[in-house]
Amino acid sequence: MTMGSNYDVIIAGGGPAGSSAAINLALRGARVLLVEQKKFPRAKLCGEFISPECADLFARLGVADQMFAARPATLSDTVFYSRTGKSAGVPSSWFGSANGALGLSRAEMDERLLRRASDAGVEVLENAHATNVLLENENVCGITIKHHGSEESFRAAITIDATGRTRALARHVNSKPNTKRDRRPPMIAFKAHLENTRVAAGACEIYFYRGGYGGLSSIENGLSNLCFIASARDVRACEADADRVVREIVRQNARANETLATAHVASPWLAVALEGFGRHEVAPVKGLLAIGDAASFIDPFTGSGMLMALQSGELAAGATANYLNERPESRTLEELAANYRVAYQRTFDARLRICSLLRKAAFVPRLAELAITLFAASDSLRRRLARATRGATRETYYSS
Ligand SMILES: Cc1cc2nc3c(=O)[nH]c(=O)nc-3n(C[C@H](O)[C@H](O)[C@H](O)COP(=O)(O)OP(=O)(O)OC[C@H]3O[C@@H](n4cnc5c(N)ncnc54)[C@H](O)[C@@H]3O)c2cc1C
Repeated sequence: MTMGSNYDVIIAGGGPAGSSAAINLALRGARVLLVEQKKFPRAKLCGEFISPECADLFARLGVADQMFAARPATLSDTVFYSRTGKSAGVPSSWFGSANGALGLSRAEMDERLLRRASDAGVEVLENAHATNVLLENENVCGITIKHHGSEESFRAAITIDATGRTRALARHVNSKPNTKRDRRPPMIAFKAHLENTRVAAGACEIYFYRGGYGGLSSIENGLSNLCFIASARDVRACEADADRVVREIVRQNARANETLATAHVASPWLAVALEGFGRHEVAPVKGLLAIGDAASFIDPFTGSGMLMALQSGELAAGATANYLNERPESRTLEELAANYRVAYQRTFDARLRICSLLRKAAFVPRLAELAITLFAASDSLRRRLARATRGATRETYYSS
């Protein structure tokens, strides 16, 4: 094992959370190493609905033009369909951005963010697997990385876990069971790009059915993204054959049965097991912060996981920059952790609470039907609820 050079910050995970934190820190002058286990561009299981508020974050990251150059689809509405075909729509304009939401593959989006990080001065290491944290006097002071067959240690003042739901670093230091997590019967998520769907132009359509839900919307190059969650029991009954799960489970939804009738699959299926939703400790040990899905996994029906990833990356970068610059309120690792926790709660608590309530209806078709009927009847109720899943449109916490 060799010892790599020192950094101010090491970030594990090059998804939207990791890139957002890295770009923000590099723009503030920090020496940043970003470690990503895959080689980009790579496909990623996701609904690929980029919520309208992300446009402001892309602009702040200096990557808005690159995103539009990928020619994403513009999504002006999200329409929720109950199993029997009742619907309730949520216009993207309710989320306070002049632009609609975007439909863009994660291969394109994540690649553009990672390249921007590199251009901003971040040292980016791809094909590099973060295997563990380095601990010294109970503080995290770096990580070990497997890269081209050898293992190396890299040290930094602050380490950030942006490895998504696997929490590849935080899980080594945080052994307490998390009582706030909503653990459900095992679920499997699937995703593929499709040709020839009948999804309405400019719409992200969400379909509820027994044991889960799925989304269909346009992305670049005239393709549609189909991404859905089904119970592991139903998936087993379909012999884990994704096409069969679509036919026998997803198309129980009357609208999905119409829009998918003529569709065919244009990419390999991706599948992943889902453990549950909700939050983890965001500063699990001194010197380590968690962002994006490694901090909280918000329900996919909100289409706001990437927004939270970008926002939490920005929050963690702000708190970390204050610590590195020895600002009076953030001179110790304890103060850094406390400041980040407060900023995180202020920004995300309310929306996570609302989502845990809505989740109860999402997995039970009769409740979803009732909720859709109720919300379809009132624009103002629907608008208030939709906005509550996002929190404030601009965070109240920034640092310079
Ligand atoms: C079924 C489903 C549908 C969804 N649909 C949407 C949607 O339409 N819109 C939306 O906004 N959100 C959606 N989400 C949520 C969204 O995908 C996540 O919130 C978002 O990807 C979180 O970003 P992240 O950067 O935290 O993690 P990720 O995007 O998961 O990125 C983590 C990165 O870390 C890397 N990594 C992992 N382990 C290591 C390691 N040990 N060493 C180095 N690198 C590592 C991974 O390769 C990956 O590139 C959906 C989620 C699911 C499950």
